[in-house]
Amino acid sequence: MKDPFSVSETEHPPREQTRMIHPHEGGGQQARTAAPVLQRGTTVLLPACGAFAGPGPTYGRGGLATQTALRAALCDLEAGEGCVLYPSGLAALSGAILALCRAGDEIVMCDTIYAPTRRFVESGLSAYGVSLKLFDPASSPEEIAAGFSERTRLLVMESPGSLTLDMLDVPQLAALARARGVLSLVDNTFAAGVLFKPLEHGVDVSVQALTKYVCGHSDVFMGAAVARGEAAAMLRRSARDVGWTVSSDDAYLALRGLKTLHTRLARHGASALEVARWLADQPRVAEVLCPALPGARGHALFARDYAGTNGLVTVVLDGPMAATSAFLDSLALFGLGFSWGGFESLAIPCNDQLAQRQTGARWPQPVIRLHVGLEATADLIAELDQALARFEAACAASDTHTTPARARVAR
Ligand SMILES: *Cc1c(COP(=O)(O)O)cnc(C)c1O
Repeated sequence: MKDPFSVSETEHPPREQTRMIHPHEGGGQQARTAAPVLQRGTTVLLPACGAFAGPGPTYGRGGLATQTALRAALCDLEAGEGCVLYPSGLAALSGAILALCRAGDEIVMCDTIYAPTRRFVESGLSAYGVSLKLFDPASSPEEIAAGFSERTRLLVMESPGSLTLDMLDVPQLAALARARGVLSLVDNTFAAGVLFKPLEHGVDVSVQALTKYVCGHSDVFMGAAVARGEAAAMLRRSARDVGWTVSSDDAYLALRGLKTLHTRLARHGASALEVARWLADQPRVAEVLCPALPGARGHALFARDYAGTNGLVTVVLDGPMAATSAFLDSLALFGLGFSWGGFESLAIPCNDQLAQRQTGARWPQPVIRLHVGLEATADLIAELDQALARFEAACAASDTHTTPARARVAR
């Protein structure tokens, strides 16, 4: 490369304004650090005219040292051949689905999919002539595959599914899809790429919201799709055409998160199981939705396929909907807010979102999704204990309140 400062004594040296524009030497060779390299940049300065055609990086949008290291780490984690980074988990799902489908195709998807993914396919993709068929996660793999048509292009799964944590037989479904020439995609956010490896079970694409456990500190939006074979090539082409990119700083934070991912996940999982066991023994708890819990729905598939669980536990309270706020508003360590996968405990009411599903269990009682964070588990259980006491009091109040009303209706 030409060095703008290597001018002979007889030529004019560049002026100060010019010197500020061109790169200065950073003290020789870059030192090797334990922390990842953070390389920002849009323009790549090429060594000579012949380098414009590649094969090295020619423009920052395709990713520089930091994004390249993150993609390599995620391929390693999920046994993939290619990885595309997206600016959020939802963008990774919509981006990957967009890359794999054409006008006239049909997508077969579980009804327990993350709701914004369903909205993208239902209202976003329908404008491009792609149709959607939803299936009940309780259906057998054969029943689900019997719903494939000539137009079915892609099977979209999430297991455990959002909110209610319903399990799917992913290996079996992936095999049935492959036999019919249908591509398969799993939203693997629950597993964080660690607890379950879809690509090792015949799935074509594993997508995850890195926003959750990989970044892990409730401060970065990012998503990734990891794939093999033809699906990896389709994702790569589409990402190049559409122009998805993530900032180097955010990619750095994702790489940093990977260093402690397994340790954090083990702690989230152990605490969540302790909370789930405790909840299952409480009189005002109707059901604990946590497939890692022996005896819970989906436990057999979970024990077969999963290496462990994460911090998610959903609890069905035994009482009227009107008592929901007594439980939630008494929480302080559990923040009220969407998302999960950060260090902190969170809770959300699920009933409104569940009402939008076409299939699956319906509960007339409050359904609360908890994310068990990295706080001391005993503190979290003590807080849930007082929340259940408030809930109990609200149930009693609502009983005395509604009895005369019911009596009036009866008369
Ligand atoms: C949070 C989440 C997403 C979306 O991730 P964002 O980064 O918030 O867009 C996708 N799928 C699942 C299962 C999630 O929980």
